[in-house]
Parts: sequence; structure tokens; C-alpha cells
Amino acid sequence: MQENGRILSVILTKVKHQAKPGVSTMDLADYALELMEHEKCQPAFFGYRGFPGTICVSVNEETVHGIPRKNRLLQAGDLVKIDIGIKKYGFYADMAETVYLGNEMPAEIEKLIQTTKEALRAGICSAIAGNTLGKISQSIQNAVEHRGLSVVRRFVGHGIGRSLHEKPPVPNFGSEDQGPQLENGMVLAIEPIATNGDPDVIIKDDGWTAVTRNGQLSAHFEHMVAVTKSGPKILTSTCQAG
Ligand code: MG
Repeated sequence: MQENGRILSVILTKVKHQAKPGVSTMDLADYALELMEHEKCQPAFFGYRGFPGTICVSVNEETVHGIPRKNRLLQAGDLVKIDIGIKKYGFYADMAETVYLGNEMPAEIEKLIQTTKEALRAGICSAIAGNTLGKISQSIQNAVEHRGLSVVRRFVGHGIGRSLHEKPPVPNFGSEDQGPQLENGMVLAIEPIATNGDPDVIIKDDGWTAVTRNGQLSAHFEHMVAVTKSGPKILTSTCQAG
């Protein structure tokens, strides 16, 4: 899973750098698939419960599960969430990042991105054997709400391994008296989604794309993290020293 995580983080970084004005969300998916084929891994999302894309690309008010489309051209000022899952050696890896397309990032968007990143970091730091799973949830919720933003509660993180989505679910809100106790060897996909407005989402007519009810922006970051004797270990990282 560590090797899968490394491969995925390299793929996601390359795809992220191709997200530019004029590029379609399908172009990003095609490029991701090319990189996956080169690495001899499969797109984990394609066909999952009927999902039609090879990756998820969600733009602006779209929170998650955006379907790549040839006619969805990215524009300067877009906030783009790229979520990629792969399968190799019988195991899955899952990772997401948010990128802003433009040079001058508005303060509001910078705050949204930094807060969501910080929430992910806080959640990862709580992924320690002996803690409850709820400690991760609480850390994420606190990090988001202390900055005056809200957690999109409809979607949660998850265990991951031989299946893409395994138990336990990892909510981005809750308290430390909730959930099972974490044990060494568990691998979790931790993935906060934050927004600067109403956190309610609705699903578009395509059956997949989740958008914020009021059209507010959202950010999403995800890492696959192992609970180990030496602490939380981010598997979806290009730098795996330590
Ligand atoms: Mg995930």
C-alpha cells in the first residue's frame, strides 16, 4: 500500500500541474489514465457503483464526484478538486488535492485551502493507536470551525485496503468519545471537505456531482494514512523517508 501511495502521489502531482485554463476536465482524466497505464495500475473509481469517469474532477461549487467532461473547460480563477484512486497488487490507494488556477489567489480562497489542509494535518496527527477514531473527526471539525468555515458532512473518509471503501467510516465531525479505537496496521483515507458557506450539498442530475446548495466554494484534501508504532504515516506521499 505504501508503494501504491507513492505511485498515486506522483500521478496526482503530474495531473495537478496539467490543470490550466483551457484544459478540459476530460483531458485531466485522460492524462491520469495514461499515467496509470504506464504504472500498470487500474483506475479505482471507474465503474465503482457505476461511476463513469476514471478520476473525479470537481470545479468551484462542486464538492466531490465531478465527472470528467470534454466540454468542461477550466478557466482562470477556478478552484479545482482532483481526486484519484488506483488499484495495484490487489490493493487500493486514494488521494485528493485542491488547486487554484490563477496567480493572484483571493484571500477567501487561500483561507479555504489552508484551512482544509490544516484540518487534514490535524486529523492525520490524531491517527495514533489507542486514540478513538472520533479523535480524528473532532480534530478535523475543530480545525475547520475555528476558522469560521464549515465541514461538508455528507461525505466521509474511510478505511482502505483490498477494497476502496472499507470500515470504518471516518467522519469529518464528531467527538473523541465516538468510534472504534485505532490500532496499529489500520489504513485510513482521511479526507476533509470544507466550505465557506452552507455545508449542505445536493446531487446534480448526472447522479454523481455533489454541489453546495448555495453555490459556495469548497476545498477537499485527502491522504491515505497508516496507523503505525512510530505514529501516523502518510502513504500518499512522494517523500517516504522516516
Ligand atoms: Mg476517498
